[in-house]
Amino acid sequence: MQYVPFGKLGKDVSRLGFGCMRLPTKQEGEKNVIDRERAIAMIRHGIDEGITYVDTAYGYHNGESEIVTGLALKEGYREKVTLTTKLPPWMANEEADLNKLLDEQLKKLDVPYVDFYILHAMNKDSFAKLQSFHYKDFYKQALKDGRIKHTGFSFHDNRETFEMILKDYDQWELAQIQYNYLDDQEQATEDGLKLAGKMGVPIVVMEPLRGGALATPPANVAELINNHESGRSAVEWAFKYVANYAEVATILSGMSTEEQLNDNLRIFDTLKVGSMTEADMAFVKTLKQAYLSRMPIKCTGCSYCVPCPQGVAIPRIFAAYNDMHKFDRPGNLTWSYKQMVEKGTDATKCVQCGACESVCPQQLPIIDWLQKVDQAYQQIK
Ligand code: SF4
Ligand code: SF4
Repeated sequence: MQYVPFGKLGKDVSRLGFGCMRLPTKQEGEKNVIDRERAIAMIRHGIDEGITYVDTAYGYHNGESEIVTGLALKEGYREKVTLTTKLPPWMANEEADLNKLLDEQLKKLDVPYVDFYILHAMNKDSFAKLQSFHYKDFYKQALKDGRIKHTGFSFHDNRETFEMILKDYDQWELAQIQYNYLDDQEQATEDGLKLAGKMGVPIVVMEPLRGGALATPPANVAELINNHESGRSAVEWAFKYVANYAEVATILSGMSTEEQLNDNLRIFDTLKVGSMTEADMAFVKTLKQAYLSRMPIKCTGCSYCVPCPQGVAIPRIFAAYNDMHKFDRPGNLTWSYKQMVEKGTDATKCVQCGACESVCPQQLPIIDWLQKVDQAYQQIK
């Protein structure tokens, strides 16, 4: 296992972090619950093998993750790790809820304090909400009374919002972002990652395998990887790319099986900052292009076509369809599109006024594509 300094934490932390959002599960009657025996054994095995960073959140596994993480950290394991959990802004209706939530989470984890208590899944709106609840005052109090040791935020929005949040508080000690070789220009972006580094805020990476999709690549990508002289697996390429950044402290992996855990432990034994050669970088670019070439709709997501007068979520619909093709996973379309159907923003709301097509810089036949996406959804849902 490789270890790196972690900002103001004052100690090195393992490059591989145990993300407790995809623990092994089992059916109990109607319910899908965490297989506690396996999950606890896996977390402890990971720590025995050198993992010193454990990440959970209120919402993971319908609220069960914090409880199981707490159980896994008994019998001396808590002292061996840096423990992070997250404040769920969607559960806070007033300022006082921030304190109540933290107390509830400490109880679930059965610990007197957590090392990092970070704001979960920040975007422009959720951050504005926590600003209105005076999150800095809350942090000041929780740091003072010792319930938390360090601050931070996890993030899902655009580059501009990332910078705004970074600059809103001069005491951030961690920023957790979605990052992998397909998302280097999405969300916080590579540029945002580097900005955080310059500001002395360590980056924790989530989704290094893009929800597991990069671990099971479609045929054209798999062929490139299988033919590469290095013999590296798809997972190794994905981790190696993220671990190349000096700004990245810990890389979270949501491991669901013992096999995945052992494979990750093996890979992280060798991953080092700056270990990607120019040829490696070029190869990863080729992999990215191979994924992008699978996208049937050449939509750049510029959003010039929205708002549509009928509320059709054009870029989101196209992104869901492209995602299905990019990863060869029909579920990527059905999951997102179903939400749009429920919200009334799906393709069937289009009245073919043509307003969107007249402003699309890519001159896409948007109306036709909307119909095709809806047909595809109807066939596979
Ligand atoms: S053509 Fe359809 S999707 Fe485009 S703006 Fe008009 S109603 Fe909206
Ligand atoms: S304007 Fe065209 S390229 Fe831009 S998001 Fe809309 S469909 Fe995509």
